[in-house]
Amino acid sequence: MGTVYLTGAGPGDIDLLTVKALRIIQKADIIIYDRLANPDILKEAKDGCKFLYVGKEDSHHTLPQEEINELIYQSALKYETVVRLKGGDPFVFGRGGEEGIYLYERNIKFEFIPGVSSAIAVPEYAGIPVTHRGLTVSFRVVTGHESKKSKSQIDWESFKSDETIVFLMGLHNLNKITKKLIEIGKPKNYPVAVISRGTRPDEKSVIGTLEDIYEKAKDLPTPALIVVGRVVNLHNQLKWFEK
Ligand code: SAH
Repeated sequence: MGTVYLTGAGPGDIDLLTVKALRIIQKADIIIYDRLANPDILKEAKDGCKFLYVGKEDSHHTLPQEEINELIYQSALKYETVVRLKGGDPFVFGRGGEEGIYLYERNIKFEFIPGVSSAIAVPEYAGIPVTHRGLTVSFRVVTGHESKKSKSQIDWESFKSDETIVFLMGLHNLNKITKKLIEIGKPKNYPVAVISRGTRPDEKSVIGTLEDIYEKAKDLPTPALIVVGRVVNLHNQLKWFEK
């Protein structure tokens, strides 16, 4: 029986892969990878390594999570070194915990290898620090994609303070999110950024306000994330990657 390495691939730029992830990818017998993991990473694998794509498009899943869990498990019965490669960090809306529990329940050894999360790195490539002295004392990473079936678990009232909010998986809900934030009392001209395909050669960031960002950014390609907060204004001075 093998070991499964639940591995973060970083947000896109291949150079943001950790040394630990690279070392295990070079040893892997099989790599099970997602849509968000940069496919160039697979070129680092040894000869004979198997590749399995289980990517999820935004809403239409290629494979249900349960089947992905089972595939990882079956791979661990066959191969010694199984790499489960996921975009960003496995624990930041990455379902890494669910996959770990599935393996735990079946007595399969596993390790987690953290990755550089898009939640911090993508704003950073756009010159937006998630914290900045004097502007914000905290930041939050929130899902912008809640199940339509159940009641919202997001405590919108709690967003009144000046902390930075990063919404992942939220582009298709951008209109709803900005309206909600205005509703709870944030100023209409409060700064917002949408960053599309961050850390990749075609990264594009659009800067606006709660009132106008939807019109400006709604057609940007995914993956994209939303940053709400006064730190967005630092983009003017700190932008570097898109220059
Ligand atoms: N585990 C991942 C996040 C998975 S959720 C991580 O830690 O980065 C997927 C969401 O992440 C996307 O919908 C998008 O909001 C964001 N995302 C991932 N990669 C991105 C990128 N290169 N640019 C912008 N947003 C990205």
